[in-house]
Amino acid sequence: MFSPSINQLIESLKKLPSVGQHTAERYVFHWLKSGKGEVNELKDALDNLLKNTKSCGVCWNFSDTNPCPICANDKRDHNQICVVAAVPDIAALEKTSAYSGVYHVLRGSIDGGDLDNMTELKIKELVKRVEQNKDLQEIILALSPDMNGETTMLYLKKEILNINPKIKITRLARGLPMGSDLQYADEITLGSAMKNRV
Ligand SMILES: [Zn+2]
Repeated sequence: MFSPSINQLIESLKKLPSVGQHTAERYVFHWLKSGKGEVNELKDALDNLLKNTKSCGVCWNFSDTNPCPICANDKRDHNQICVVAAVPDIAALEKTSAYSGVYHVLRGSIDGGDLDNMTELKIKELVKRVEQNKDLQEIILALSPDMNGETTMLYLKKEILNINPKIKITRLARGLPMGSDLQYADEITLGSAMKNRV
């Protein structure tokens, strides 16, 4: 059996996505072997993450500043909002250079089997942005084309059109891999899905 300190770290690592007992043990023994330098580097990075990362109060991106650099950028089109499920989806879309509007991060999508999760999503915040910006031209619903993504896009479309029926509501063109997260789609496919949105 391992010592209590080793076990504590193993248990903590096992809370990470896709990390089981085996992988957690490999990490811990890697650090014990690599010594203090590498462990301190990780400790500093985690400290900085806690200390500096804020939620953007406009789009719910994670950033060291609030508002985030995208929301603070005057050159972006603030009358075009692209709704994504998670923060890494922003990075994936930014890499394509196919979009110059702003974003809204829902922090998840509606789970058809568990409607309670809806309150945790940033839907109210999106509704407020739609209500407050009378010049809003377009909302792009860029969620994964799986069942939860489809449910969410249908719900949002109804909500938004209720507030302002003039807003153009689009979604990414077909061709993205079914059921996979946006952030795993390749740059060219994602860029063309954005450019050819329908
Ligand atoms: Zn922002």
